[in-house]
Amino acid sequence: MELTYTERLMPAHKRMALVAHDHKKADLIAWAQNRSDDLKSHHLFATGTTGTLLSSAIGLPVKCFFSGPMGGDQQLGALIAEGKIDVMIFFWDPLDAVPHDPDVKALLRLAAVWNIPIATNKSTANFLMDSALMTQESTIDIPDYAAYLANRTK
Ligand code: PGA
Repeated sequence: MELTYTERLMPAHKRMALVAHDHKKADLIAWAQNRSDDLKSHHLFATGTTGTLLSSAIGLPVKCFFSGPMGGDQQLGALIAEGKIDVMIFFWDPLDAVPHDPDVKALLRLAAVWNIPIATNKSTANFLMDSALMTQESTIDIPDYAAYLANRTK
């Protein structure tokens, strides 16, 4: 079936998901400390360990989900599918295998399906944060799921 698209309005104050694999946590925390002034104006969500470390390092509230290997990646993926996450910063580790690789793939896949901006390394994270769109309302194209359902029942 042909998928059609519609638009979703992203708020000026973004709902940001932050995730880092174990060998990348120090990098993400250092990045977030440098960017704490920018992060202040957004709503932060994270997998369990990343979020706990982040919150104490930058002193901002972070809504923490389960640890990634215990289901946290999937919890974030579900929020992305529901249109409740606007941007994701995911420092995944390209040099180490993780037990929850299928969950990592699923999270990245859902971010692509729902067309949210994602950064998987520091330079892209900087490009994203410096985009004027980070602090203003903006629209993204998303799959028109209501139309999909309507067609499915025909
Ligand atoms: P963690 O999960 O923040 O709980 O370590 C991250 C991940 O590995 O997906």
